[in-house]
Amino acid sequence: MNYRHAFHAGNFADVHKHALLVALIERLTRKPKPLFFLDTHAGRGHYDLQSADARRSNESHTGIGRLVGCAPASEDIARYLRLAGFDTANSEHLPASYPGSPLLALAALRDGDRVALIESHAEEARVLRNETRQRRHLSVIHGDGYAALQTYLPPKENRGLVLLDPPYESADEFETLASALKTAIGRWPNGMYAAWYPIKASREAVRFLASMQQSGIRKILIAELIARPSDSPTGGWSENRHLP
Ligand code: SAM
Repeated sequence: MNYRHAFHAGNFADVHKHALLVALIERLTRKPKPLFFLDTHAGRGHYDLQSADARRSNESHTGIGRLVGCAPASEDIARYLRLAGFDTANSEHLPASYPGSPLLALAALRDGDRVALIESHAEEARVLRNETRQRRHLSVIHGDGYAALQTYLPPKENRGLVLLDPPYESADEFETLASALKTAIGRWPNGMYAAWYPIKASREAVRFLASMQQSGIRKILIAELIARPSDSPTGGWSENRHLP
């Protein structure tokens, strides 16, 4: 498994996922009670957009790069950009670095909230530990994010968010994710779960969504960003898209 998020950091999928992550945490932090955040596939926490890996793909140019100089119409997007360290109004250039989900979440959470960050790649986990070492109530685990669902759920706070953002390198990732989600929700029905999936893998994505819908989970929000018509299972955003 060679997935390195550095090639993709700040791309349109990261922007979509991270804007949603910040919005979910903002809603959860409206109540003063402490909460628990678990990031099962955390990455290294911070990405240098000038690195050779990032420059080879230049994916951030069509992601966060497109927001440089924009005036966000929504407070959720404005907050995400602020927490990500972008001052869009006064910036004309692509920023030099981009935060990953753990650092964005930490920026949105409060000191009293508890955080567990799981990453299976040793070097990524080492960098992440370094990036977050000042923070209290935080664990960085070099290990398997799916196994961590068993370890950490249900959390004592009984409020919070689990982000599942696997790399989809293995052919059965959708099945693994669906099964992990069902087990996790069985262990902790009160939790909020956010799972990222690629819509390019359309057949698997539709099957995954159908299995989630049939699982008895009461409230599901599907938020898909179609960047190119060919990305869509139905050839573009369609209100007629039916799940089996
Ligand atoms: N969540 C990060 C963000 O938004 O900034 C990006 C995560 S990236 C899509 C997926 C990460 O999962 C990679 O860093 C990879 O090394 C790691 N990974 C792969 N398999 C894993 C597993 N079973 N458990 C935990 N981490 C895993």
